[in-house]
Amino acid sequence: MKPAMRRRGVAPAAMILAACGLAIGSAGAAPQAAPPAAAAQYYRADDFARVSKIDAHVHIHGRADQFMKQALADNFRIVEINVDYPDFPPLSQQQQDALSLKARYPGRVAWVGSFLVRGFQSPDWSAQAIRQIAQADAAGAVGIKVWKNIGMALRDAAGHYVMLDNPRLSPVMDYIAQHYLVLVAHQAEPLNCWLPMSRMTVRSDREYFSEHPQYYMYRHPQMPSHAAILAARDRVLAAHPDLRVDAVHLASLEWDVDRVAQFLERFPTARVDLAARLVHLEYQATRDRARVRRFLMRYRDRVLYGSDEAYGPQDDNPGAVADIHRHWVEDWRFLVTDDAMHSADFTGGFRGLRLPRDVVEQIYRRNAEALFGDGWH
Ligand SMILES: [Zn+2]
Repeated sequence: MKPAMRRRGVAPAAMILAACGLAIGSAGAAPQAAPPAAAAQYYRADDFARVSKIDAHVHIHGRADQFMKQALADNFRIVEINVDYPDFPPLSQQQQDALSLKARYPGRVAWVGSFLVRGFQSPDWSAQAIRQIAQADAAGAVGIKVWKNIGMALRDAAGHYVMLDNPRLSPVMDYIAQHYLVLVAHQAEPLNCWLPMSRMTVRSDREYFSEHPQYYMYRHPQMPSHAAILAARDRVLAAHPDLRVDAVHLASLEWDVDRVAQFLERFPTARVDLAARLVHLEYQATRDRARVRRFLMRYRDRVLYGSDEAYGPQDDNPGAVADIHRHWVEDWRFLVTDDAMHSADFTGGFRGLRLPRDVVEQIYRRNAEALFGDGWH
């Protein structure tokens, strides 16, 4: 979800050089027995469509046949996430779309439901929310999304911002835990949102918050701080040690892999996804690629690939489909190859992380399968 768009390009010259380098390397070397074992441990850029993958964080509305055609061609299954977000279709429509997509593309679509915060001030709100969650559960949802409006927009009857540990949300969290649903939690925004423009790390954040000053928290010091929002989330996780949580967007700790690592150490059942935050790993890789790589190696079983692509409800947008395909390919290149790359979001080049095959398969598929079970069936 906005505002964390990550858009980047791969330096074409570097790609060509890297490809040539491989070819020259093999031609110039002494005859060898078969491909070297080291090469077999890594995927290459052109393995992209061959490897079975899951995008664990997309928002797909309407029929989306063009989107699904591309997802199938690129060998992706998806987790479609409903959100109580005013710019998306109504929640009931989102759920209907997800069920339709799942029925039309068997084995390819899992989905996450949500509930409305509307009417939060009314005494029976918790019961209403639980009814919506129960209904999504019965319809096959693998998880329940809580969005950043909790912590940043929703207010109680006294006008205070509602945090994730609000007592009215407590029975909702209990229900999600007891029913073994995954809490898909997006709280807060990138830290950039609370920083002056001059300290923001990525251009898309600077642009977005210039254009949307109402969402730029640095300008609204009376609003809850980044730390306060995450502290409330963390209190919920601490109070529900059995709650399975997917703390999306790198748990909103995107600016420092060490902070994400601390979060994962503190909450052993938590997972994080990379959705719309891969650019922040790329930014960190401009300075210390080894540290970023070490993080993904160490937490290889805790990190899910997700893009946060949104598509629809119009399904006649070949440009949008082409963009999504391009982003998927670029993300793959960063995680899988050691190509020299650059981003449109910041100056300074970086190299791909060249994660081993096994780790690539965990991040791109197995961790999502472990978390969401048979949600695709
Ligand atoms: Zn999202």
